[in-house]
Amino acid sequence: MLTHILGYPRIGSKRELKKACEQYWSGKISKEELQSQAYQLRLEHWKIQQENGIDLIPSNDFSLYDHVLDLSLTLGVIPQRYQALVDGKSSKELDIYFAMARGYQKEGFDVVACEMTKWFDTNYHYIVPEFTKNQQFYRFSNKPIQEFEEAKRLDIITKPVLIGPVSYLLLGKEKEKGFNRLDLIQRLLPVYIELLQELESRGAHTIQIDEPYLVMDLSAKERAVFQEVYQQIRKALPALQIVLATYFECSGDNLSTTLSLPVDCLHVDLVRCPSQLGDILDQEAFVNGTTKLSLGLVDGRNIWKNDFTNSLSFIEKALSKLGEERVWIAPSCSLLHTPYDLDLEKDESVLTPTIKNWMAFAKQKLKEVRTLADLTKPQLFSSLASILTENQQAIESRKSSTLIHRPTVKSQIQGIKNADFEREAPFALRQSIQKELLRLPLLPTTTIGSFPQTTEVRQLRANYKKGLISDEVYTQEVETEIKKAIHWQEELGLDVLVHGEFERNDMVEYFGELLSGYVFSQNGWVQSYGSRCVKPPIIFGDIERKGDMTVRWTKYAQSQTSKIVKGMLTGPITMLQWSFVRDDQPRRLTAFQLALAIREEVVALEKAGIKIIQIDEPAIREGLPLRKENAPIYLDWAVKAFRLSASGVSNRTQIHTHACYSEFNDIIDSIADLDADVITIETSRSQMELLDAFAEFKYPNEIGPGVYDIHSPRVPTVEEITTLLEKALTYIPLENLWVNPDCGLKTRHWEETEKALKNMVGAAEALRAEV
Ligand code: GLN
Ligand code: ZN
Repeated sequence: MLTHILGYPRIGSKRELKKACEQYWSGKISKEELQSQAYQLRLEHWKIQQENGIDLIPSNDFSLYDHVLDLSLTLGVIPQRYQALVDGKSSKELDIYFAMARGYQKEGFDVVACEMTKWFDTNYHYIVPEFTKNQQFYRFSNKPIQEFEEAKRLDIITKPVLIGPVSYLLLGKEKEKGFNRLDLIQRLLPVYIELLQELESRGAHTIQIDEPYLVMDLSAKERAVFQEVYQQIRKALPALQIVLATYFECSGDNLSTTLSLPVDCLHVDLVRCPSQLGDILDQEAFVNGTTKLSLGLVDGRNIWKNDFTNSLSFIEKALSKLGEERVWIAPSCSLLHTPYDLDLEKDESVLTPTIKNWMAFAKQKLKEVRTLADLTKPQLFSSLASILTENQQAIESRKSSTLIHRPTVKSQIQGIKNADFEREAPFALRQSIQKELLRLPLLPTTTIGSFPQTTEVRQLRANYKKGLISDEVYTQEVETEIKKAIHWQEELGLDVLVHGEFERNDMVEYFGELLSGYVFSQNGWVQSYGSRCVKPPIIFGDIERKGDMTVRWTKYAQSQTSKIVKGMLTGPITMLQWSFVRDDQPRRLTAFQLALAIREEVVALEKAGIKIIQIDEPAIREGLPLRKENAPIYLDWAVKAFRLSASGVSNRTQIHTHACYSEFNDIIDSIADLDADVITIETSRSQMELLDAFAEFKYPNEIGPGVYDIHSPRVPTVEEITTLLEKALTYIPLENLWVNPDCGLKTRHWEETEKALKNMVGAAEALRAEV
């Protein structure tokens, strides 16, 4: 039984790659220095896998920025706008690579970056390949070969990893009309096959081809392309051992297509889809054939220790039907989505030994894969019996721990009634009550919550966290910031003010730290895009609100002004989506626990005299399951969780929500179902086109479509904003329209923010005078 992994994290256990890249970009280190640091990381990662007994070690899973971009460069998919760099005197591969990733403004060049989007349902973002009708493919970068050779020099014959040709095309975008990118396959395939041949000729005996699209909704045509492509690959490479990797979902209705592809080993994700094993082993043709099955048993998307007893039952089942030669053991997907090394979590006051003992990060997962394989060997079993027992004890202690299970929370959840999901009165009535009470002008102006976070503010929080300043001093300093922000907003003439979120480093972590059921790692970084990493908080147990979370800051802000201050909270779905979550209960249940905690805060804010409360849900769309058929179930509980958090207040209290980076076309009915009194959304970059869906649906509640893009330092003019608002008015009734930026302003500077908001208020006032 072979062990392998699909990929290892690349950013470095101390984020060395992040630092090296950023230094290179700012001209502080040379290309050679960057390459040498990258090499050190690859070396280290190969060694760790060797030491932990991984039989087939991947190569080309490393990337300086993104593995999809790597393949684009390998296949010569370089959009026209970078051609000058290819031809020009600086025809350096690395320049082009980073230009596509981040844009390029140097030596008279000024080109924008390629688009970036989420890798399936993960928080990893890839660079979207751009295809034209006459797209040509040719070998441009030799990265897969170079990394294979590099490992070979260390006497490691790796298993090169490549994204499959079909998934690669599907991951991209047509940049002109009149063709379908899948039709490019016959031009792409010869280059791809030649690459495989070269790898084989240099000594690669096994190659992993990732085709995650095999778990997505596919058309008959797409399935046919899969068949055709793998026939051709097989024909060209009869002797190469091809591992076809699928992950993140069940093969579902693509199973027969997948099983019919002429490959040597099929990898399946048994964490996301445990039923898949039975489905495959029920196929007589598969069982009687020779194809190997790689069991993805160790969770590559989460940080929990593997339940060996459970995994062993899967392995035994596969072994009994397929025999030792045909069963491989692996993590469910690439370990890219897990943090590096639990051993680095040394501070017991942050992560207690009990909770730590329930976890495994990437390095620990390597060992788990090895141990699982060894545990099935009778000659090794006795020496490993204690490891199995330890594992069982850890799993048992987690199941029954009082740290996790809070009876009060469980009974609260049981006690949820239908009425808890409903506001007292329907929107129309609430609207008239609120209009009467709030007395806001037409086209009320507001912002999304955060204001620029200066170095001083960050330093203040850091000092407080380190215990260098007292509670009193910290409170005073934050209050000073709030007070300044309130007066600044009054000066600008905004209608609904915010406190500015100076006390928050991150909209999820802030609340996580104040709730029970959350823990935090110190080094649990996961790559989000390029050099950007996130350190998701970990939900390990029942969620309970320990006390007020935002009340004192919001109340203080309100005490400084006669205008209305909007309270600011993060919603249950976003809390869930941006954390590592429990795998011992359905996500829905965790979402409801979060919702109850937030509901209590909403009620407390109302009690403290706060009249408008915003519950942010920027992540609502990204929680959508990969398969359309699973969407309704998710949307049902996601909407319920939001409503649960929002419905504890009277009709007089106005509930806002905010969602960004989203297209809403396919989920507009669920967005309407949130029944927030006001929703603010990101629309300026689509020139309000996003509002189509809202208009078509006759979305009844109030909307604030973002009138300028906060991702850019550019200050929008009054005219631009007015034009956008006029356009918005063709979609939305005047009495329902709000005026606000696209998103929070924490990444901006005060100077540009002031100018932008001034113009925004100016545009609203001018328009008010007209209508
Ligand atoms: N209230 C948050 C802020 O302004 C919202 C952030 C978000 O939508 N991602 O920063
Ligand atoms: Zn936003």
